[in-house]
Amino acid sequence: MTIVLDGRKARDAYRTKLALRVKALADQGTLPRLAIIQVGDNRESSIYIEQKKRFAASIGAAADHVRFAADASQDTIAAKIGELNRTPEVHGIILQLPLPEGLDRLVLMNLIDPNKDVDGLTDENQKLLDRGEPRFVPATAKGVMLLLDFYGIDVKGKPAAVFGRSRLVGYPIAQLLHIRGASSVSVIHSKTEDAALISRAADIVIVAMGKPELVDRSYIKDGAVVVDVGINSAAKNGKVVGDVRYADVAPITSAISPVPGGVGPMTVLSLFDNLILSAERFSR
Ligand code: NAD
Repeated sequence: MTIVLDGRKARDAYRTKLALRVKALADQGTLPRLAIIQVGDNRESSIYIEQKKRFAASIGAAADHVRFAADASQDTIAAKIGELNRTPEVHGIILQLPLPEGLDRLVLMNLIDPNKDVDGLTDENQKLLDRGEPRFVPATAKGVMLLLDFYGIDVKGKPAAVFGRSRLVGYPIAQLLHIRGASSVSVIHSKTEDAALISRAADIVIVAMGKPELVDRSYIKDGAVVVDVGINSAAKNGKVVGDVRYADVAPITSAISPVPGGVGPMTVLSLFDNLILSAERFSR
């Protein structure tokens, strides 16, 4: 029988725990506060920010939306990041991507105090992840692991494959699988030949490419666990689909995450897990 890895159900269960941690902090006089910097008004970014604000409210944390016009200068944004770094009431700072052209994402990102970099994307925090000692795990990767944990799926000693190797998603997922003791982690990317052969050897397959329904059952071993991170909006008659052809693949898996309703809800949750972790560290 196939288990559906229901991200909404897992998120709701974890959310209760996060709310308790927020309450414990509030009892000590600390309100976990996230600053979300948005430059311009990219529509998808605005939707994601609203989701984050709603989630913050649902656990009693604070999320400030710091907005700049699309033509704001790099110096203006840099100054704001500096100010937020120095504000003790702020425990997390994120720069909502993408940024308008003309702004240097890497430079701005690296101005964020690594102790407040709850997206885990500054060079310093990436290096800690490389070393296997992450300070903040990027939210989507953490969300994948929390989803597996919720369903009691242990990757230890199992061969795993990850489709995609972006710094934001694929790479940190592969790194976490290593840290958690997968017996091997194959990273499949756009230049990989024989991807199906490689992924068919894996018991745990995590897919994060942004290629609508590319993975069919020819890529999957019978009984494997499949987590689909892909979000492809409007790929199929306006419907959001993942990178896995769900109806084809699901019957041969032992567990699979749907799109939507799989990893997506876990990502926002994980960002706030990082924020609360940060507030807990600062309050010590
Ligand atoms: P990206 O474009 O930065 O990276 C895509 C990766 O996929 C690259 O490493 C590339 O080499 C690999 N790839 C591309 N085509 C391939 C192919 N044919 N075979 C094998 N590998 C291939 O994208 P990203 O930011 O890593 O996001 C990946 C997907 O995850 C997107 O669909 C994105 O929308 C989704 N996403 C979901 C969440 C969530 O919360 N569920 C969060 C972030 C990203």
